[in-house]
Amino acid sequence: MRYIPEPYRIKMVEPIRMLTREEREIRLQEAKYNVFNIRSDDVYIDLLTDSGTGAMSDRQWAGMMMGDEAYAGSRGYFKVLDAVRDLFGYTYAQPVHQGRAAEQVLFPNLIKPGQTVISNMHFDTTRAHVELAGGIAVDRVVPEAMDTAHSAPFKGNMDVAALERTIQETGAANVALIIMTITNNSAGGQPVSIANIRETRAIADRYGIRMIIDAARFAENAYFVKMREPEFKDASIRDIVRETFRYGDAFTMSAKKDAIVNMGGLVGIREDSDLYENVKKLTVPFEGFVTYGGLSGRDLEALAIGLYEGTEESWLRFRIGQIEYLGAKLQEAGIPFQTPVGGHAVFLDAKALLPHIPYHEFPAQALTLELYREGGIRCCDIGSYMLGNDPKTGKQLQAEFEFCRLAIPRRVYTQAHMDYIADVMTDIRDRAAAIMGYRITWEPPVLRHFTAHLEPLGIA
Ligand SMILES: *Cc1c(COP(=O)(O)O)cnc(C)c1O
Repeated sequence: MRYIPEPYRIKMVEPIRMLTREEREIRLQEAKYNVFNIRSDDVYIDLLTDSGTGAMSDRQWAGMMMGDEAYAGSRGYFKVLDAVRDLFGYTYAQPVHQGRAAEQVLFPNLIKPGQTVISNMHFDTTRAHVELAGGIAVDRVVPEAMDTAHSAPFKGNMDVAALERTIQETGAANVALIIMTITNNSAGGQPVSIANIRETRAIADRYGIRMIIDAARFAENAYFVKMREPEFKDASIRDIVRETFRYGDAFTMSAKKDAIVNMGGLVGIREDSDLYENVKKLTVPFEGFVTYGGLSGRDLEALAIGLYEGTEESWLRFRIGQIEYLGAKLQEAGIPFQTPVGGHAVFLDAKALLPHIPYHEFPAQALTLELYREGGIRCCDIGSYMLGNDPKTGKQLQAEFEFCRLAIPRRVYTQAHMDYIADVMTDIRDRAAAIMGYRITWEPPVLRHFTAHLEPLGIA
């Protein structure tokens, strides 16, 4: 597979440095074998997340210099509003500081305590905000999302039959919302087809339920639609984006993903002016006055520009192509991962690569640590280590998947970095049978993966 050249050239660089193997081993010990405790200066290639880690363009930086820092009515606000109207066709836009803030100011207006919210898959902060609003979050993703070796074009889709059954069982009046997450982050960045969005909307209409789009990765989704859904093969990305958002009543967006800013988020509302008034009421106490919403004026400028840059076809062709290239290299080396690759990451299948490590010794965490040890690469566990213990029994839960996620920041790394990652993985593959599991020596009660301490098994 050929690498698609970057549709940009570099005019500013940030040096990175590689520690020696001995130094990396010491850093791992000091970090108690938790990659969240490693300083970023000690990481050679950082694939922990693609959220807020992208490189802004010269135009975005120029926009930053033009930022209007007025408390009320700043220029940047109106640019963001114009961009939302132009790209998505929604009347109202509320900037906020990131995606979860959008959830915080929108959901309490739409969810009554005890109501159910149905999504193809809730992202973790989305689930948290549904629950904070008193709702019950349920996922109805298509079953093929769960089969890592099975290749299908739209593994992020809603299981529409299961969605309708759930509405009937719950009673439509008890369903607050349907949330369509594009791309489906928790299923590995897998896309959702327009056909599926239309079917979901038809069900929403049949039962009188609102449909919200979780739009963090809307542009990557549009690119997959163009590539994989024949109806849209000749459509422009911007037309596909318009078509996607026609079926939503509102959207929440973490702009730290496809809008390529380091901080920012949005709520968009198609036409419901009462809902917009209610969103404003929550924005003022939580995020600040409505025309800045927790952001600096310069951030608003960068966001308005980033929304356009993130939907350029040449950019998306390179973006998805870069991740497919890494996937192809890993496949050549016989390294198992969730196929096809997602829009923002490759999910290595640690259960398949390290079958001798049982779930309670954290195979995906072991692989994560091995990537740092072998190559100074930082990624993260999405498996039993992240899942944690049963709150009732205190026993370790077994995750469906043991994924090690290589999330690729936008416009940051080059082909040589991708080759390097594949080489490091090939070295790890060769000695996979000797890699050992880990045990937890200390953990907090919730969200332990960020702070827990571990130690390697088999070392006295
Ligand atoms: C990142 C993300 C969020 C949350 O956004 P933050 O900016 O991290 O608060 C919500 N939903 C999806 C699908 C995301 O990818």
